[in-house]
Amino acid sequence: MNDSPPLPAADWPELLPGWVWLCGAGPGDPGLLTLHALNALRQADVIVYDALVAPGILDWARPDAEMIYAGKRGGKPSTKQQDISLRLVDLAKAGKRVLRLKGGDPFVFGRGGEEAQTLVQHGIPVRIIPGISAGIGGLAYAGIPVTHRDVNQSVTFVTGHDQSGNTPTSLNWHAISNASPVLVIYMGTKHIGQIAAALMAAGRGSDEPVAIVTNATTPDQNVLETTLATVEADIKTSGIAPPAVICVGRSVLLRQVLDWQSFATGEAPRNLDPLGRGRPAEAP
Ligand code: SAH
Repeated sequence: MNDSPPLPAADWPELLPGWVWLCGAGPGDPGLLTLHALNALRQADVIVYDALVAPGILDWARPDAEMIYAGKRGGKPSTKQQDISLRLVDLAKAGKRVLRLKGGDPFVFGRGGEEAQTLVQHGIPVRIIPGISAGIGGLAYAGIPVTHRDVNQSVTFVTGHDQSGNTPTSLNWHAISNASPVLVIYMGTKHIGQIAAALMAAGRGSDEPVAIVTNATTPDQNVLETTLATVEADIKTSGIAPPAVICVGRSVLLRQVLDWQSFATGEAPRNLDPLGRGRPAEAP
């Protein structure tokens, strides 16, 4: 294809029998997998994967690898989580080379920390392979930079569910609202009405931009742009379903200039300067 050197073949870590590699698969697009993840897929005897791991990614597994689906969606009780962790322990103790593949990053709202903890407590050696989290990479595919100098110097990642499937009442929404100009909410569609109300009660504007990105980075990616006041109704009428990341803040406006996926279809940007900064042609 070109003359650039091939990826170096040597020095990739070996997945040894009795080990578990806990690995992020990214938000969907197989191209967003890391090289370490690919290296793991090529070696594993057993792959235990989640609902949010895109099917194309599993095509890179060894043809004879055993595939175990550990799907679990929508804040179901966490008893099953312990079953998954113990299954990983058993597989490792049986001398398998185990790959535990999770959507996004395993340590971001993915219970990867709990699984790794159980493994280590049972004497199983682990390696952690980070992945691109939906709240960063998924927004990037929607043309939303999670930080931007003109918008935010901090960002808050928050989950809309707790272990019981309820809005986390333990969260101080007032403090969260005041903490960062940009909030990225995982698992937030179900309780978005409550969340939006709490944010507005804490002082966020009712006209504040909100984007809901569903199936980010997959061929089914969909982006709904709305505001805090209208987000609940708009989600209902649009009928969109999880998985979705929700971005609250003015960075959503940057999509008007940065919706790069639309460029491939020949569309022009909607607005070159959506923040009104007059900065399109700054000298280098
Ligand atoms: N570890 C994952 C998050 C797991 S929690 C990560 O780092 O991305 C599951 C939630 O992640 C979903 O409810 C949704 O909020 C978000 N999510 C994961 N993949 C997504 C995708 N392709 N598009 C939109 N949201 C996604």
